[in-house]
Amino acid sequence: MDVIVVGAGVAGLSCARALTDGGARVRVVERGRVAGGRLASRRYDGRYADIGAAYLVADDPAFTAQVGSWRSRGLARPWTDTLRIYPGGDRTTGPVRWAAPGGLRSLAADLADGLDVRLSAPLGAVPQDADAVVLAMPGPQALRLSPPPEIVAAASAQVWRPVIAAVLSYPEREWGDLSGAFVNDHPYLATVCDDGDRRGDGAPVLVAHSTAALAARHLDDPESAGPILAGAVGELLGLSGRPEVRVHRWTFARPEPVDGPYATDGRVWLCGDAFGRPRVQTAWLSGRAVAHALLA
Ligand SMILES: Cc1cc2nc3c(=O)[nH]c(=O)nc-3n(C[C@H](O)[C@H](O)[C@H](O)COP(=O)(O)OP(=O)(O)OC[C@H]3O[C@@H](n4cnc5c(N)ncnc54)[C@H](O)[C@@H]3O)c2cc1C
Repeated sequence: MDVIVVGAGVAGLSCARALTDGGARVRVVERGRVAGGRLASRRYDGRYADIGAAYLVADDPAFTAQVGSWRSRGLARPWTDTLRIYPGGDRTTGPVRWAAPGGLRSLAADLADGLDVRLSAPLGAVPQDADAVVLAMPGPQALRLSPPPEIVAAASAQVWRPVIAAVLSYPEREWGDLSGAFVNDHPYLATVCDDGDRRGDGAPVLVAHSTAALAARHLDDPESAGPILAGAVGELLGLSGRPEVRVHRWTFARPEPVDGPYATDGRVWLCGDAFGRPRVQTAWLSGRAVAHALLA
């Protein structure tokens, strides 16, 4: 069986891995220069900062085994089970959040290792030269490939919200024991994470994620959201240092969950993190579910 997987995010890579393990011939095509999609780390001043997913949570047995494999090879580390909630700054305890010393994208690179992944290869239409085609991406991106009607219906039903991420590099660490924070009822800020703490190198770097409302207003000019997010973080944490600010726009950042593990019309499949809670684990499971269905 020849399969083309379009999209080298977590869903596409987990799909390709499981298909390859099952004996299929798989080609992954990715429009970006690197694999990972929203599991993204970007290098600033010689150091990676996580600009997409903030951390991983694993509660599915198969994904827990995957995270265990990353941990045993030093690629992932348990970061924290305690975050703060603002306003107020109280601590809240939950599941263990996993981070990656080399940046979260290193986990996607590990999934891609040994696969036939073609980078910088944007597709404009669903390819015809394969037994099956897996569109492993947000529904609105899949719609650009003129997929068949059942995929159009499934993709059109997805609702997505944008996020602007701001990487804030400070002269020194002015905050104490922060790890990460959920910011409720703020017009601009949704979360702030201590990138130096989660990566384990102690760098004076925070990463802020905007509210969808702020991102929607600044989608055409994301740079203009940078000073707003830096100001909001400084005020929230009482910081006096002026950070260097870099921003990244995620037009399709967070989906509303839809039912089922994937959508299909038989030859064309759609998977990704919209098929469940919008998490890395969901994307990984969705891609893998498509692979298992195809192999069956
Ligand atoms: C700001 C932000 C914060 C987040 N925080 C967390 C978190 O803390 N914990 C968590 O678990 N999850 C978090 N997530 C969600 C997590 O990042 C996603 O669930 C997961 O990475 C989605 O993977 P995916 O493979 O489904 O999609 P994507 O990562 O979006 O992959 C889709 C891929 O398809 C490619 N593509 C699209 N169109 C084409 C085309 N025409 N041709 C070729 N390639 C194409 C894209 O370039 C991309 O690489 C966050 C996401 C964002 C944006």
